[in-house]
Amino acid sequence: MRISDILRVKGEQVVTVTPETSTERLLGVLAEYRIGAAVVSRDGSVVDGIVSERDVVRALAQRGAGVLAEPVSAIATTRVRTVTPEAQLEDVERLMTQGRFRHVPVVVDGALCGVVSIGDVVKNRIGELETERSTLTEYITGDRA
Ligand code: AMP
Repeated sequence: MRISDILRVKGEQVVTVTPETSTERLLGVLAEYRIGAAVVSRDGSVVDGIVSERDVVRALAQRGAGVLAEPVSAIATTRVRTVTPEAQLEDVERLMTQGRFRHVPVVVDGALCGVVSIGDVVKNRIGELETERSTLTEYITGDRA
């Protein structure tokens, strides 16, 4: 399955924050959209970084509550791994496993056009396995599952 197939169902909406956004405001955004990470972007299109709940937890543990007043640029990851819509689901799974992160922005010609999360990967993988199982069951028994 290609990433473009996932985005077609899920949509291309990406929640972004500017580098100047405070970490406290970021927490409000993550809670409002029920997500675990936001792409950091000055113009809402070019990926300047990514900041996840893990970055907030790590910074809070290391530097204390003062972090909440700091801009997200102080805690975000700037070397972001991205994929194109042509990438396969397996490529993203490998990237997430090797990099130990759960979010991958999708970019075309330098412009953001979606995000794939670990939740999307698991959901689509289960869908693939269920389809495969019913095809095999049908093949073996001649019955529809
Ligand atoms: P996550 O598992 O996505 O919550 O992120 C874990 C750590 O990886 C955090 O420090 C994130 O800033 C960072 N991170 C998340 N997504 C990416 C990505 N696509 N490329 C590089 N780092 C990332």
